[in-house]
Amino acid sequence: MTDALKRLEKKDRELMLLEHISALLQWDYETKMPPKGLSERSQQIVLLDSLIHKKLADPELGKILDDLGAGESSPGGSADLDPVQQGMVRSYFRENRKSRLLPSSWVEEFSEVTSQAHPAWVQARKEGRFSDFRPWLEKIVRLCREKTELFGYQDHPYDPLLDEYEPGMTTAAVDRVFSQLRRELPPLAGEIIEAGRPDDSFLFQDYEKEKLEAFGTEILQDMGYDFQRGRMDESVHPFTTAVGQHDVRLTTRYTEPSAADALFSIIHEGGHGLYEQEARAGDAAGTRNGSGASQAMHESQARLWENMVGKSRAFWEHYYPRFQDLFPRQTAAVSLDEFLRGITKVAPSCIRVNADEVTYSLHVVLRFTLEKALITGDLVPADLPGAWNEQMELLVGITPPNDAQGVLQDMHWAAGMIGYFPTYALGNLYSAQLYECALADIPGMDASFRRGNFSLLRGWFNAQVYRHGASRQAPEILETASGKPLDASCFIRYLRQKYRDLLEA
Ligand code: ZN
Repeated sequence: MTDALKRLEKKDRELMLLEHISALLQWDYETKMPPKGLSERSQQIVLLDSLIHKKLADPELGKILDDLGAGESSPGGSADLDPVQQGMVRSYFRENRKSRLLPSSWVEEFSEVTSQAHPAWVQARKEGRFSDFRPWLEKIVRLCREKTELFGYQDHPYDPLLDEYEPGMTTAAVDRVFSQLRRELPPLAGEIIEAGRPDDSFLFQDYEKEKLEAFGTEILQDMGYDFQRGRMDESVHPFTTAVGQHDVRLTTRYTEPSAADALFSIIHEGGHGLYEQEARAGDAAGTRNGSGASQAMHESQARLWENMVGKSRAFWEHYYPRFQDLFPRQTAAVSLDEFLRGITKVAPSCIRVNADEVTYSLHVVLRFTLEKALITGDLVPADLPGAWNEQMELLVGITPPNDAQGVLQDMHWAAGMIGYFPTYALGNLYSAQLYECALADIPGMDASFRRGNFSLLRGWFNAQVYRHGASRQAPEILETASGKPLDASCFIRYLRQKYRDLLEA
């Protein structure tokens, strides 16, 4: 057993090195690469990814996992292993199993289809014409339906797709919490909108980029993001990536019309970055265990800082005077209350990434509903635009003026990422459920935010989330920390309280 563990650790180390090299190439591609580097860079990334895939599918890895007792009924291996070792075995058992179940013909077709689907989607979105993208989506849906059969499932054919991004989560569990969101969020959004439409025009003035960057950097430092182990750059779409345990980079953009977009994307990515810098399981630096537990748990950390902390009164009681010093022209006539109402404004909109905190999750519920129907065959891609618009009207109360602002807005389907969307809203639910516990456990959290001090919050998350790294699955971390399974009521309670306070102020 010890020998098998050593061999697994060696393989893990090599794989993580390859994945970090691939991440560095990807980061460079998004931030610094000159345009003509594109073709060679793509070849470099494809080569590395195929090396990684080969190593994950390696029968020798399967043999090591066998020796460690891993199997369908014991994915974490032998009961003699400690929880951190079991976490590592479980991760590799999943990866190795998937790689073995997908025949190379499927992998090749999927990679060919998605690489052509992306430019087709870009063009279709530009023209606002879904019919141009439809043949590609048909192929992608067929491939995903094949994948789900190849992986096998017990309850719902969507389960294996969801499990790729959120290990341990099931369609039934998502159905349960999303139907609560479907019931409770639209009337809540309606109430808030009816209560008043705050003026947020001050956010759309011209804000100097250098000052926004300096201000964002100060906040990141206060959050605990370590610039000795990270950095911030610009890219078209903000993202965070780990190039190593001690090199976690984030990006933002200053190109959107609202200053809030740049600022809150810095805080959002800072939440991802902090989690990735602190994620460890025992001495797991540089191992698969030494990173975030899942997509949704990662998103929960980003949303926690962006919305729950970063759009709270206590936070801005500390930072608003500094913000006004930096931007006197834009904020002279704006009180703290007006500022808070501006950054938390609720309004129905077509585009998910620009949606407010209340309607955002409804955009995700919509995608989950449609994806499930595509996978069961209850919906065919040809009928997707109509179904999309119908759901938008039902959930958000708005009909997109064209397909570019509707069914074609996201890149996920063109990339074959069916099963990913739910993690965005699950992230909101995880963050509210965890934050509710943190507030109950630690008195005086708000008072510490008013001093720009976040060590109490970080300490709680370190003990409950960060320190497990990826050695435990997200649903288990959530249940252990909060004493109950996933519960959408916490998120609804949080929103109700927040907007009640804002309206009464
Ligand atoms: Zn995020």
